[in-house]
Amino acid sequence: MERIDQLYIDGAFVTPHGDEWFNLFNPATEEVIGQVRLADAEDARRAIAAAKRAFPAFSRTTRAERLAMLERMRAAVAACEDELFEALVTEYGAPVSRARWMASYAHQVIGEVAEVLARYDFERQAGAARVVMQPLGVAGLITPWNNDAGFICGKLATALAAGCTAVIKPSEMSAIQTRIVTRALHEAGLPPGVFNIVTGRGEVVGAEISASPDVAKISFTGSTVVGKTILRAGAETLKRVTLELGGKSPMVVLDDADFSTAVPLAVQAGFMNNGQACIAGTRILVPASRQAEFESLLAREVRATKSGDPRDADTAIGPMVSAKQWERVQRYIRLGINEGARLLVGGEGRPEGMKRGWCVKPTVFTDVRNDMTIAREEIFGPVLSLITYRDEDEAVAIANDTLYGLHGYVVSGDPQRGARVAARIDAGRVLVNTLTHEPKAPFGGFKQSGIGRENGPYGLEAYLEPKALVVAA
Ligand code: NAD
Repeated sequence: MERIDQLYIDGAFVTPHGDEWFNLFNPATEEVIGQVRLADAEDARRAIAAAKRAFPAFSRTTRAERLAMLERMRAAVAACEDELFEALVTEYGAPVSRARWMASYAHQVIGEVAEVLARYDFERQAGAARVVMQPLGVAGLITPWNNDAGFICGKLATALAAGCTAVIKPSEMSAIQTRIVTRALHEAGLPPGVFNIVTGRGEVVGAEISASPDVAKISFTGSTVVGKTILRAGAETLKRVTLELGGKSPMVVLDDADFSTAVPLAVQAGFMNNGQACIAGTRILVPASRQAEFESLLAREVRATKSGDPRDADTAIGPMVSAKQWERVQRYIRLGINEGARLLVGGEGRPEGMKRGWCVKPTVFTDVRNDMTIAREEIFGPVLSLITYRDEDEAVAIANDTLYGLHGYVVSGDPQRGARVAARIDAGRVLVNTLTHEPKAPFGGFKQSGIGRENGPYGLEAYLEPKALVVAA
């Protein structure tokens, strides 16, 4: 049983001023595995003040100094990979193969940011002006539970690479991962106040950070609803805001696709991260002429996909992160049935033979219309909608008929044709015949999936302000 009662402020582990305790669960067993004492608004203010004090000196550090810090951070987080892996399985319910990837992503992403910093052009010429990219100031980094260690490391590394200092507000549900990462980052020996970590409630600590006049920039990953609240809170001080929000991404299976490739891709894209992924391909668009064929192959593949104990090597889908999330997914499954969609596989309740744990049956609805709630709202669980189309134009129209625009997937027998269709999808990233990402490419959403981009030089730029200097001779 872990008792986590320390925040990280001004280079030291400190007792929170807040005195609310929050229970941490193992979602596979529903057992309480720990408690975290939450920060309150006063703690958030202390952290912001520390970051503000540290900014002037830190903003003047050289690229070489910041590269050295990033390397120390990367090495320290890499050294705790096994501990992080354990936490991701126990606290989050990540199946072992996924947890291993997530644990390594946390340090790899720091390495990616360092590569960007090494090449980034902080000074350019624009006619007679010299343009200097200057760090914005204190950055507030607010992260969700669905890959918290990775988000903390990625956002923090980028903010520091730019020369900003940071206050991080992770999800209270990821307190064990956060404790591990915080210790590692402390060992990296950064100057006091350069980064501060205050785990607390979003509507208390997150709200304080997003309204503070001493915070210049917010980088938020989470739901669209909260993203809008943060944007409103930051409006008063015209904060620079990057929002990475929800999605309802389409997977367009073209009529020339080989279904032996398309079906496994659809299952992996739809069920990744236990279905709790912003980029999940949750709307599968198939040609009406091949619906029956696709359905039968998909049903077989989904029945063979194990949802259960994340420690079993053959489990592909672990439990939902919390009872609340499990109930939310159940509600959407009932809603799909009531809306008249046809249940192809899965349904309400726990997988066969499971009595405890927040596992969901991998579920696919077919005969879904794109105006049904299950096709419009983000469910954040392993629930997919199969929607048919008549021709390519209709497929593109359905793909784009959504409030979101984070991701898209296209599967085609002809990569050139797939690329042409991908170009017509309104989303920040579209993958054709693959699920492999390019970490240097910009990541972010069109429409209500967000504002701005992370990763690569685009991500770094979001923490910088261009200043034009014209000096008369
Ligand atoms: P959430 O929006 O409920 O919470 C995210 C973070 O915001 C948490 O730390 C939370 O405490 C904090 N928060 C809550 N209310 C706040 C407020 N009023 N002011 C400031 N901060 C506040 O999201 P979640 O349930 O933790 O995560 C799931 C959501 O995140 C999904 O919608 C998913 O699509 C999205 N997500 C997006 C991306 C992306 O890169 N686009 C990646 C992962 C998850």
